Amino acid sequence: MPIYEYTCNSCKKEFEILVLGGDTPACPGCDSKELSRLLSRCGFISKSTGPGGESQVTASSASSACGSCSAGSCASCGVG
Ligand SMILES: [Zn+2]
Repeated sequence: MPIYEYTCNSCKKEFEILVLGGDTPACPGCDSKELSRLLSRCGFISKSTGPGGESQVTASSASSACGSCSAGSCASCGVG
């Protein structure tokens, strides 16, 4: 699932939203559609790794590999 991160140009709120094909998302705070899209983070990496857990996400390779994540599946981003 392509989850994008946006910053609202009106209220500066940052949020993540699941964007379906062709949809233009709106700010959940002020309903503005003047949004700036940030880099895709491929879902929720590293939220499952607690203290003492292993965190073997290599930031550089992960971010480049996750460039294809908008297609819906990305083996290296760990979603699903
Ligand atoms: Zn807003």
